[in-house]
Parts: sequence; C-alpha cells; structure tokens
Amino acid sequence: MRNFFEKIMIFMQGRYGMDSLNGFIMGLSFVIWVVNIFVFNRLAHYIIMVVQLLLIGLFIFRMLSRNITMRSAENRIFRKAYDPVKNRVQLTYKRIRDRKDYRYLKCPVCKAQLCVKNIKGKHNVRCPKCRSEFEKKI
Ligand SMILES: [Zn+2]
Repeated sequence: MRNFFEKIMIFMQGRYGMDSLNGFIMGLSFVIWVVNIFVFNRLAHYIIMVVQLLLIGLFIFRMLSRNITMRSAENRIFRKAYDPVKNRVQLTYKRIRDRKDYRYLKCPVCKAQLCVKNIKGKHNVRCPKCRSEFEKKI
C-alpha cells in the first residue's frame, strides 16, 4: 500500500493538484449528478450527463496539468468571484446560528464585520480593525 502512495506521489510531482476551483468543479458535478436523477426526459438526461463528464474531465485535466502558472491564475480569478459569495453565505449561516446570543454589525468606516452580544440597549462599539467608535441600538 505504501508503495502505491509513493507511486502516486511521484506521478503527481510537478503537477498542479487540488485547489478551490477544482473543489467547486467536483461539488458542481456532484450536484448535477443528483439533479439528473430526477430528470426523466431522455435527451435532457444525456445532455446533463455529457456536461457532468466534461466537468469531471476538466477536473482531471486541471489536477494533472503541468502548467501551474496558468492553473493558479484561473484559481485566482475564480476566488475573486467566489469568495464574496462564500463569505456572504457563511455570515448568513452564523447570523442564524448565533441569533440568540450575538448580533453581527458592519463597521461604518472600514466595513469590517463585527459581532456584539445581543443585549437590548445602546452600545458603544469600537471596531477592532480601524479603531473607530460608533453607537448602535439593539
Ligand atoms: Zn472599522
């Protein structure tokens, strides 16, 4: 078994491997696979299957690619678009999870996300990032 992993390690040397874009492609391909279970139109089913295979092909191509500069550039472009969406989703999740104990605020100066205890009344909030103070009523 160890020999097997060593062989894979040697094979992957100088190749790009995994990144966030590849993770996203894999996730998307999984979602498409699940959705396709409920598609009963034969033609649509095959078209979705081809799209899924193309995604998997792209995933393998990117993982085994030796053009690391190009793949990193793709990943950077992807992260630029994807990270704000991901942060928004994570923040919404935290807001719902902590809704009893905390309030999430945005600093009016630097737009950083702040978190205060959910206690009724006026609060003097100091942003830990830019040190500006502001008042917030809960
Ligand atoms: Zn601030």
